Amino acid sequence: MNGAQSAGRVIVLLGSPGVGKGTQGIRLSGAMGWAHVSTGDLLRAALKAGTALGLEARKFMDAGELVPDEVMVDLVREHLAAMGSDRGVVFDGFPRTVPQAEALGAVLAEEGRQVDQVVLLEADAEVLVRRISGRRSSPSGRVYNVHFDPPRRPGFCDDTGEPLIHRADDQPETVRTRLSVYREATAPLVGYYDARGVLVRVDGEGDIGEVQAALREAVGVARGATATGA
Ligand code: AMP
Repeated sequence: MNGAQSAGRVIVLLGSPGVGKGTQGIRLSGAMGWAHVSTGDLLRAALKAGTALGLEARKFMDAGELVPDEVMVDLVREHLAAMGSDRGVVFDGFPRTVPQAEALGAVLAEEGRQVDQVVLLEADAEVLVRRISGRRSSPSGRVYNVHFDPPRRPGFCDDTGEPLIHRADDQPETVRTRLSVYREATAPLVGYYDARGVLVRVDGEGDIGEVQAALREAVGVARGATATGA
């Protein structure tokens, strides 16, 4: 919890599907030289690569349900071990349940680390639905929004030129399931982290730049700061 010590910091972005955790997490981690760990991206990569993990996860993802905790914890543990502990990390989409939060605390403690800050991004339900319905993803991992953050050439990624995808789990019925799974399984993490004194709330309704500025202020990194140790 020391603002002067950025290396090795662990930040969790919490919030409903569609609130902007991915967009904001990529920007924050990119600016600070921290790792961005999106478990949804890790699962989609496993699926694309056709691994056993990807195939197992698929049925849950397509239905908008959560992949079992043990699978997720193993995935994150392996990912962290491969990364080394001196780099800051922004988690996006993990933890999503109280057992996952407990396991993350234990894995970090083995490295002498802890969750330093949890940022709850908040937005009205109407905003969430508009954001999710406009979302288009590049196979590269970059996410656009046809309303708020469109690609230069409609339908194609600015970086790689690949066609953009409307994720199967961004279709309306699955979105409803994901929102109710969030309320039941993930929202209890607000109380969990609040009780540990690490929760901070950020208004996620502004445009991308406004939310990013508020997020950086919340985690104590100056706007424009880019160094890992800043
Ligand atoms: P996301 O891209 O974060 O919205 O994740 C897409 C899907 O991957 C979710 O709807 C879940 O099926 C699965 N998933 C991602 N992260 C987790 C997690 N921490 N626990 C369980 N399932 C997850």
